[in-house]
Amino acid sequence: MTILDIIQPDNPILRKKAVKVTSFDARFQKLVDDMVETMIAAPGVGLAAPQVAVSQRLIVVRLPDDEESKKEYGKEAGVLYVVANPKIIKTSKEMVEGIEACLSIPGFYGDVDRYQMVVVTGQDRTGKPIRIKAKGWLARVFQHEIDHLDGRLFIDIAKNVWKAKDVDEETADETIEIE
Ligand code: ZN
Repeated sequence: MTILDIIQPDNPILRKKAVKVTSFDARFQKLVDDMVETMIAAPGVGLAAPQVAVSQRLIVVRLPDDEESKKEYGKEAGVLYVVANPKIIKTSKEMVEGIEACLSIPGFYGDVDRYQMVVVTGQDRTGKPIRIKAKGWLARVFQHEIDHLDGRLFIDIAKNVWKAKDVDEETADETIEIE
Protein backbone atom coordinates (compact mmCIF):
# COMPACT_ATOMS: atom_id res chain seq x y z
CA MET A 1 0.00 0.00 0.00
CA THR A 2 1.04 3.55 -0.61
CA ILE A 3 0.44 6.76 1.26
CA LEU A 4 -0.85 9.20 -1.34
CA ASP A 5 -0.30 12.95 -1.53
CA ILE A 6 -3.27 14.98 -0.36
CA ILE A 7 -3.90 17.91 -2.67
CA GLN A 8 -4.83 21.43 -1.59
CA PRO A 9 -7.29 23.95 -3.08
CA ASP A 10 -4.66 25.31 -5.50
CA ASN A 11 -5.19 22.05 -7.41
CA PRO A 12 -8.35 22.36 -9.59
CA ILE A 13 -9.20 18.65 -9.18
CA LEU A 14 -10.49 19.48 -5.71
CA ARG A 15 -13.13 21.76 -7.29
CA LYS A 16 -14.29 19.38 -10.03
CA LYS A 17 -17.44 17.27 -9.96
CA ALA A 18 -16.13 13.71 -9.66
CA VAL A 19 -17.32 10.97 -12.01
CA LYS A 20 -19.19 7.82 -11.12
CA VAL A 21 -17.20 4.69 -10.25
CA THR A 22 -18.05 2.07 -12.86
CA SER A 23 -15.21 -0.42 -12.52
CA PHE A 24 -14.39 -2.34 -9.36
CA ASP A 25 -11.20 -3.82 -10.82
CA ALA A 26 -7.76 -4.39 -9.25
CA ARG A 27 -6.77 -0.80 -9.87
CA PHE A 28 -9.82 0.41 -7.97
CA GLN A 29 -9.05 -2.00 -5.10
CA LYS A 30 -5.56 -0.53 -4.84
CA LEU A 31 -7.00 2.98 -4.78
CA VAL A 32 -9.31 1.98 -1.90
CA ASP A 33 -6.42 0.44 0.08
CA ASP A 34 -4.18 3.44 -0.54
CA MET A 35 -6.91 5.89 0.49
CA VAL A 36 -7.56 3.98 3.73
CA GLU A 37 -3.86 3.97 4.52
CA THR A 38 -3.54 7.67 3.66
CA MET A 39 -6.55 8.60 5.83
CA ILE A 40 -5.25 6.69 8.85
CA ALA A 41 -1.69 8.01 8.44
CA ALA A 42 -2.81 11.65 8.10
CA PRO A 43 -4.56 11.09 10.60
CA GLY A 44 -8.09 11.83 9.48
CA VAL A 45 -11.60 10.44 9.90
CA GLY A 46 -12.55 10.61 6.23
CA LEU A 47 -11.07 11.01 2.77
CA ALA A 48 -12.60 11.54 -0.66
CA ALA A 49 -10.86 10.41 -3.86
CA PRO A 50 -10.58 13.97 -5.29
CA GLN A 51 -8.35 14.78 -2.28
CA VAL A 52 -5.76 12.36 -3.67
CA ALA A 53 -6.21 13.80 -7.17
CA VAL A 54 -8.55 11.03 -8.39
CA SER A 55 -11.77 12.55 -9.67
CA GLN A 56 -14.03 9.60 -8.87
CA ARG A 57 -17.03 9.25 -6.57
CA LEU A 58 -15.37 7.29 -3.77
CA ILE A 59 -15.08 8.05 -0.06
CA VAL A 60 -13.60 6.26 2.93
CA VAL A 61 -14.68 7.03 6.50
CA ARG A 62 -13.42 5.69 9.81
CA LEU A 63 -13.91 7.16 13.26
CA PRO A 64 -10.96 6.42 15.57
CA ASP A 65 -11.10 3.52 18.03
CA ASP A 66 -8.97 4.67 20.96
CA GLU A 67 -10.56 4.40 24.41
CA GLU A 68 -11.96 7.92 24.38
CA SER A 69 -13.47 7.48 20.92
CA LYS A 70 -15.05 4.16 21.94
CA LYS A 71 -16.80 5.96 24.79
CA GLU A 72 -17.93 8.74 22.50
CA TYR A 73 -18.88 6.84 19.35
CA GLY A 74 -19.79 3.44 20.78
CA LYS A 75 -20.01 0.71 18.15
CA GLU A 76 -19.20 3.17 15.32
CA ALA A 77 -15.63 3.61 16.62
CA GLY A 78 -13.11 2.00 14.29
CA VAL A 79 -15.65 0.84 11.69
CA LEU A 80 -14.34 1.33 8.17
CA TYR A 81 -16.80 2.53 5.55
CA VAL A 82 -15.82 2.39 1.89
CA VAL A 83 -18.55 3.88 -0.28
CA ALA A 84 -18.48 4.25 -4.03
CA ASN A 85 -21.09 6.52 -5.63
CA PRO A 86 -22.51 7.67 -2.29
CA LYS A 87 -25.83 9.46 -2.29
CA ILE A 88 -27.70 11.04 0.60
CA ILE A 89 -31.25 9.78 0.18
CA LYS A 90 -32.71 10.95 3.47
CA THR A 91 -31.87 13.54 6.12
CA SER A 92 -33.16 14.56 9.53
CA LYS A 93 -34.95 17.88 9.80
CA GLU A 94 -32.67 18.77 12.66
CA MET A 95 -29.34 20.39 11.91
CA VAL A 96 -26.42 20.66 14.29
CA GLU A 97 -23.46 22.99 14.36
CA GLY A 98 -19.96 21.59 14.76
CA ILE A 99 -16.33 22.44 14.13
CA GLU A 100 -14.84 20.99 10.96
CA ALA A 101 -11.38 20.79 9.48
CA CYS A 102 -10.11 19.23 6.25
CA LEU A 103 -6.92 17.41 5.30
CA SER A 104 -6.85 19.50 2.12
CA ILE A 105 -6.97 22.78 4.06
CA PRO A 106 -4.49 22.22 6.88
CA GLY A 107 -4.64 24.52 9.89
CA PHE A 108 -8.12 25.92 9.22
CA TYR A 109 -11.33 25.31 11.15
CA GLY A 110 -14.91 26.37 10.70
CA ASP A 111 -18.35 26.15 12.26
CA VAL A 112 -20.60 24.18 9.91
CA ASP A 113 -24.28 23.26 10.15
CA ARG A 114 -24.97 19.66 9.11
CA TYR A 115 -27.93 17.31 9.26
CA GLN A 116 -27.96 15.36 12.52
CA MET A 117 -28.82 12.17 10.61
CA VAL A 118 -28.36 11.05 7.03
CA VAL A 119 -29.11 7.86 5.16
CA VAL A 120 -26.45 7.16 2.55
CA THR A 121 -26.73 4.64 -0.25
CA GLY A 122 -23.96 3.55 -2.58
CA GLN A 123 -21.81 0.56 -3.35
CA ASP A 124 -19.17 -1.22 -1.30
CA ARG A 125 -15.70 -1.96 -2.69
CA THR A 126 -17.00 -4.97 -4.59
CA GLY A 127 -19.83 -3.01 -6.19
CA LYS A 128 -22.56 -4.44 -3.97
CA PRO A 129 -25.32 -1.97 -2.98
CA ILE A 130 -25.09 -0.67 0.58
CA ARG A 131 -27.17 1.59 2.80
CA ILE A 132 -25.82 3.34 5.90
CA LYS A 133 -27.75 5.29 8.51
CA ALA A 134 -25.37 7.72 10.20
CA LYS A 135 -26.00 10.02 13.14
CA GLY A 136 -24.04 12.72 14.91
CA TRP A 137 -20.35 12.97 14.14
CA LEU A 138 -20.47 10.08 11.66
CA ALA A 139 -23.28 11.84 9.77
CA ARG A 140 -21.15 15.00 9.68
CA VAL A 141 -18.15 13.16 8.24
CA PHE A 142 -20.30 11.58 5.49
CA GLN A 143 -21.75 14.97 4.52
CA HIS A 144 -18.26 16.56 4.46
CA GLU A 145 -16.79 13.78 2.29
CA ILE A 146 -19.74 13.59 -0.12
CA ASP A 147 -19.44 17.38 -0.60
CA HIS A 148 -15.88 16.79 -1.86
CA LEU A 149 -17.30 14.74 -4.75
CA ASP A 150 -19.10 17.83 -5.99
CA GLY A 151 -16.10 20.10 -5.50
CA ARG A 152 -17.54 21.66 -2.36
CA LEU A 153 -15.32 22.41 0.63
CA PHE A 154 -16.35 23.13 4.23
CA ILE A 155 -14.99 26.68 3.93
CA ASP A 156 -17.70 27.33 1.29
CA ILE A 157 -20.53 26.66 3.74
CA ALA A 158 -18.97 27.46 7.12
CA LYS A 159 -20.49 30.27 9.17
CA ASN A 160 -16.99 31.37 10.01
CA VAL A 161 -13.49 30.10 9.28
CA TRP A 162 -10.43 30.56 11.41
CA LYS A 163 -6.82 29.55 11.30
CA ALA A 164 -4.90 27.91 14.10
CA LYS A 165 -2.34 30.45 15.29
CA ASP A 166 0.30 27.81 15.70
CA VAL A 167 0.52 24.23 14.47
CA ASP A 168 2.01 23.25 17.81
CA GLU A 169 -0.36 20.84 19.60
CA GLU A 170 -0.37 22.83 22.83
CA THR A 171 -1.54 26.01 21.18
CA ALA A 172 -3.76 24.45 18.53
CA ASP A 173 -6.90 25.63 20.32
CA GLU A 174 -5.70 29.23 20.39
CA THR A 175 -7.20 30.62 17.26
CA ILE A 176 -7.49 33.83 15.35
CA GLU A 177 -10.46 34.65 13.23
CA ILE A 178 -9.75 35.55 9.65
CA GLU A 179 -13.24 36.24 8.31
ZN1 ZN B 1 -12.25 17.50 3.55
